[in-house]
Amino acid sequence: MDSSAGLHVTMVKKRLASGETCRKCLQAEEMLRARGAWSHIDQVVWAIENEPESAGMRLARRHNIDAAPFFVVDEGNGAEVAYGSVLKLLQERFAPTPSRNSHIEAGDIPALEQELSLRPPVEIVRWALSRFGRDCGLAFSGAEDVVLIGMALESGHPFSLFCLDTGRLHPETYRFIERVRSHYGVEVELLAPDTAALQVFVRKKGLFSFYEDGHQECCGVRKVEPLRRALGGYRAWMTGQRRDQSPSTRAHVPVLQLDGAFAGRDGALVKFNPLANWSSAQTWAYIREHDIPYNPLHERGFMSIGCEPCTRATHPGQHEREGRWWWEDSTKKECGLHSVPPPKP
Ligand code: SF4
Repeated sequence: MDSSAGLHVTMVKKRLASGETCRKCLQAEEMLRARGAWSHIDQVVWAIENEPESAGMRLARRHNIDAAPFFVVDEGNGAEVAYGSVLKLLQERFAPTPSRNSHIEAGDIPALEQELSLRPPVEIVRWALSRFGRDCGLAFSGAEDVVLIGMALESGHPFSLFCLDTGRLHPETYRFIERVRSHYGVEVELLAPDTAALQVFVRKKGLFSFYEDGHQECCGVRKVEPLRRALGGYRAWMTGQRRDQSPSTRAHVPVLQLDGAFAGRDGALVKFNPLANWSSAQTWAYIREHDIPYNPLHERGFMSIGCEPCTRATHPGQHEREGRWWWEDSTKKECGLHSVPPPKP
């Protein structure tokens, strides 16, 4: 942890009118201590409820922050940066130095996969980010991915986050992306289709050709090409795929693999699927237990959410992928983002 050298860090805590310290401030301190980052906090000042001139209240006004806990980092050159999120502070200022041993040989994958598949998702995420840091792109679209974002932030390691903006998402999904961005204080790179390719496609085929001749061509332009472009800048990526999402196409998803469909910055691209062994029930229990934001469409019967024209709600008893491309054969219900691995021998 050397990224904090030369910095002066102030933590602002809130003292309630009752004299108690606010619960969130205690949790933030606990998290800093658990990460070994408490020693980087140079001073604590108090924002006292009903005392607008207390030191913390004045700092909050100066940095336009609503409520403690928050942190002010003095860069040592007169510049100050405020953080309203302890997770973001940990990630940006106190991130552990990434392991130098981030290269993974193809031949090492089976043994590593076997070892990692015995670990809980949070440890797989930590393992991945300790090696790849920002060179690992986390693909964000669904509820599972937000679970991974929370775990990634908890790890204290840096990472990258992107989202495919096909131009055909539900309005609820765009608001959900924004909610995740502000809830966690993270930057989300939105990947748009290539304008020229999209214009050619739409001019030739219109806006709903997928109902006539399948979704592959539209997904190719709106999802696969932008993803290929983005992954070319990474060395690893991480998805929220689970085996139980689709008996036809995801039954053999490993927690770690070399991507068979895309190349990374140095050629081979490592792919992590930390939730591969989790069920839908485990994922949703975690979401509720950790109060993780999710797309409001889930409340209206949408289990697996993609583009608006290609997603519909499912009935109780239906499998979640039955709500996607429902007019097509179940073995074709992938958009080309994930190569289908063969069964393990
Ligand atoms: S899910 Fe539907 S609208 Fe979205 S890219 Fe694929 S075919 Fe096009």
